[in-house]
Amino acid sequence: MRKFSAFITSSASFGHYFCSNRFTPLLHSPPPPSIIRHFTPPMAAPEDSLRKALADKLSEVENQGNQVRALKAGKADKSEIDAAIEALNSLKLEKASIEKDLQATLSSSEGSGNREAFRQAVSNTLERRLFYIKSFNIYGGVAGLYDYGPPGCAVKSNVLAFWRQHFVLEENMLEVDCPCVTPEVVLKASGHVDKFTDLMVKDEKTGTCYRADHLLKDFCNDKLQKDLNITAEKAKELKHILAVLDDLSPEDLGAKIKEFGITAPDTKNPLSDPYPFNLMFQTSIGPSGLIPGYLRPETAQGIFVNFKDLYYYNGNKLPFAAAQIGQAFRNEISPRQGLLRVREFTLAEIEHFVDPEDKSHPKFAEVAELEFLMFPRELQMSGESAKTIRLGEAVAKGIVNNETLGYFIGRVYLFLTGLGIDKKRLRFRQHLANEMAHYAADCWDAEIESSYGWIECVGIADRSAYDLRAHTEKSGEALVAHEKYPEPREVEVLVIAPVKKEIGLAFKGNQKNVIEALEAMKEQEAMALKADLESKEEVEFYVCTLGKNVTIKKSMVKISKEKKKEHQRVFTPSVIEPSFGIGRIIYCLFEHTYYTRPSKAADQQLNVFGFPPLVAPIKCTVFPLVQNHQYEDVAKEISKSLTAAGISHKIDITGTSIGKRYARTDELGVPFAITVDSTSSVTLRERDSKDQIRVDVKEAASVVKDVAEGVRSWADVWETFPHHSSASADE
Ligand code: AMP
Repeated sequence: MRKFSAFITSSASFGHYFCSNRFTPLLHSPPPPSIIRHFTPPMAAPEDSLRKALADKLSEVENQGNQVRALKAGKADKSEIDAAIEALNSLKLEKASIEKDLQATLSSSEGSGNREAFRQAVSNTLERRLFYIKSFNIYGGVAGLYDYGPPGCAVKSNVLAFWRQHFVLEENMLEVDCPCVTPEVVLKASGHVDKFTDLMVKDEKTGTCYRADHLLKDFCNDKLQKDLNITAEKAKELKHILAVLDDLSPEDLGAKIKEFGITAPDTKNPLSDPYPFNLMFQTSIGPSGLIPGYLRPETAQGIFVNFKDLYYYNGNKLPFAAAQIGQAFRNEISPRQGLLRVREFTLAEIEHFVDPEDKSHPKFAEVAELEFLMFPRELQMSGESAKTIRLGEAVAKGIVNNETLGYFIGRVYLFLTGLGIDKKRLRFRQHLANEMAHYAADCWDAEIESSYGWIECVGIADRSAYDLRAHTEKSGEALVAHEKYPEPREVEVLVIAPVKKEIGLAFKGNQKNVIEALEAMKEQEAMALKADLESKEEVEFYVCTLGKNVTIKKSMVKISKEKKKEHQRVFTPSVIEPSFGIGRIIYCLFEHTYYTRPSKAADQQLNVFGFPPLVAPIKCTVFPLVQNHQYEDVAKEISKSLTAAGISHKIDITGTSIGKRYARTDELGVPFAITVDSTSSVTLRERDSKDQIRVDVKEAASVVKDVAEGVRSWADVWETFPHHSSASADE
C-alpha cells in the first residue's frame, strides 16, 4: 500500500500448478536437467565479520609498515629488517585474501552482475517477441509508458480473467467500472491532493528531476556492494538508512544527501533540497476550465463514493466486497525499472467492507493451513529473514491483525502461485509501524523477488473506516451501515446541547466553530468539562478550527447522559483492501518462468517461457511436418476444432525446420504443439519436458483443451496415450 507522502517499496519455476475449485491441478513433468537458470536468488553472507576482519588486517598492515620504517630509520640489522618485511608481505597477502572473500560475498549476496545479465536476457526476449514495447517508440518513446504487444496482451487478459474468477466470482464481489477522470473534490477528501507526493530533487544546473530517496538508496547500495574499505559500523549505518528510507523527512533526506556528497547522476552537478512533488496528473473537466480534476491514481475512490448504492444493492448487508479493474495514473518522477514503475498501469482492487467489531471470516479455515514466507515487523526490526509461517498460526498469535485480512493474504498467495509465481521468491512483508498510514490497522505487501530485488506487487491493508469517514465528512452523505437489533436495547447516550443564544452573544462570528467543537467532544472529555463547569463556572476550552482557547461559561452548554431505546447500531464499516499492480505481477511472472536450454546441436541457448497453460498467451501451435496439401488440410481441420473449443492457437505452415518452429513457440511460452505427420494421427508435444504422445486427429483438439484448462494433467495424458519416439520431430 502506498502511504501518502512516501512511496512504499522495498527495495522460476516449474510445478506452478493452477489449482482452484473449478480446475484440477495440472502436473508438469519435472524440469529436464539441461535447463539453465541464469539468476539464482541471493544467499545470506558473513559480510559483517569479513568487513571487521578486513579493518583489523588493515591496521595490522599499517602497524607492521610503521615497524619496517622504524627499523630502517634506526639502521637495524639487515636480517631484522628482512624478517619485518616478510611479515609485512604475508600480512598484505592475508589482507588481499580477505578482500577477495568480501568481494565474492558481496557479489554473491547481491548477484548484481548475474542479475543484470539475466534481466537483459529476459527483456531482450520479451521485447523481440513483442510482449511489451516502449510506447510511441517511433517518436523516441516516453519514460514510464509501455504498450503490451500481442503475446503480452494475451498474458494480461489471462491474468485478469483468472483474477476475476479467483476473487470476483469466488466471493460474489460487486464489480464496478468507474471513470479515470476524477473531480478534485473526491481526491481532496481522500487526501491525495494534499499528500500524494514523493520527494524530489533537481539538478541545479540542468533542472533534471530525480527521486530523492532513490538517489540515497542507490548511493547506499553502491557503497555496500562496491566499497571494501567501509567499516562494519558504516555498513550497519548504511543498511539502517535503507531500512528507514521511506520514513525520512525532507530535511533528513536532504541532510543525508549533503553528508554523502550525492550529486546528479548524469552530470555530477549539485542537487537542490528535496521537496514534495504531487504524483497526480492534473486536468480540467469541460471547456470552461472551471472544474479541476485529476486522472485517478488508484481505482479505490470510485468504489468508496458508491458505497451507499452498493450496500443497498447488497441488501443492506455486511460484509461484502466491491472490485474494480482499471487504469491508474501516477506521474512518477524518474521511472526506471521497466514495467515495474510506470506512469500508467492497470490496477485490480478489492474493497471488502466489514463490521469493525467482527472481522472474522467464514472461509478462513480454507486457507488456515497454508504455509508460506512471512516477514512480520518483529523479524524485520531484529534484522532476521522472512520465515515460513502457517497462516492459521499467524492469525491466532495476532501477527496478522484479523481473520479477514488473513483470509485475503491466503487468497493472494493462492492467486500468485496459481499464476506461476515461484513460492520461494514470494513473501508477505508486514509494514513497520511507522510505515503504515496512521489510520490503518495492519498492512502486508505481497513482495516478489525479481532481478530488481523484492518488489511490492500486491498491497493488502486493513484501512479501518478512514476512507468512508473522509467521504462522509466531505460530501455530507452518510456512508454508514446499520445493524438491526432483534430487540430494542436501552443505552445511555451522551447529550451535548450548546445554548446557541449565549454562545452567539459571546462569540459572534466564531459561534459556529465553538458549537462544532463542543458537539465533537468524546464522552470522557465532555464529562470532564461538565465537572469543571460545575465546580468553576467557567473554563478555557480549545477550539482547533480557531486555533485558540475560548472561555466557556456554565450557561453556554448542557451536558448530560440520557437513557434511550435503540433499534439499530449505525457504524462506519472498516475496509480491507487488496490492491494488485497487474503489470508488476506480469513482469515478475516473466522472470520466474524464463529459462534457457541448449539446442540439440548444443551450439546455442534457446529461450523458453515456462508459463502454466492458464497464463500462456497461446495454448497450442499446429504445424504440418512438411509442406503438403494433405497435412495442411489436417492442420486446418484441427485448428477449426480448437477454435470451436475456445482454445487460442496458431498454425505455422512455413517450411522452416520443425526444431526452429518449436524454438519459436517455446520462446512465446506456448505449452503444447501439435505436429501433423500423418493424416490419421498426430504428435502432441509438451513444452518443458519435450515429451511427445500420439493422438488421433479427431481427438487432438479435445486432449489439448483438457490439458490447457487443467481438466487433465500432462502426466495423466502421458500415461494414457502411446509415446512418440524421442528421436522425433523435435529437432
Ligand atoms: P499502492 O496504492 O501504492 O499501494 O499501489 C498498489 C499497487 O500498484 C502496488 O502494490 C504496485 O503493485 C502497483 N504500483 C504502484 N505504483 C506503480 C507504478 N508506478 N508502476 C506500476 N505499478 C505500480
